[in-house]
Amino acid sequence: MQETAPRRERPIGLYVLETGGCEGCFMEIESLNGSAFALEQAGFVCVNDPADADWLLLTGAVTRVCAEMVDRVWRAMPPGRCLIAVGACAVDGGPFPAGYATLGGLQALTPVRRSIAGCPPSPEDLLRALQELAQG
Ligand code: SF4
Repeated sequence: MQETAPRRERPIGLYVLETGGCEGCFMEIESLNGSAFALEQAGFVCVNDPADADWLLLTGAVTRVCAEMVDRVWRAMPPGRCLIAVGACAVDGGPFPAGYATLGGLQALTPVRRSIAGCPPSPEDLLRALQELAQG
């Protein structure tokens, strides 16, 4: 049984961006978006266009070639946007510290204010954390 977040006028749009990890976190978010977890009933919807997104869920250690893409996606999102680092890689690189190929997570680009811990976080962990973030 899934806990349901307080009802809003519309679901929170989630845009998921993988920036170079093992993709474990990305796959767990994909699982969360599957039929087993009723993501929309919990008040969220995954969107395919950053222009439709309220929150950016970033996974991976931010490879150097992905840094520009992160900026481009962030700028395409409407005002009120929120950035959430999902998994250890996204926060500080996790097992992929800064080096020739990666920046070592979002912290290299911006202070990480919101994050979901884990390597990877399970779909249940993800949903619980999203609901907590939605409640402020
Ligand atoms: S935090 Fe762990 S599971 Fe997630 S992308 Fe990095 S190595 Fe993979």
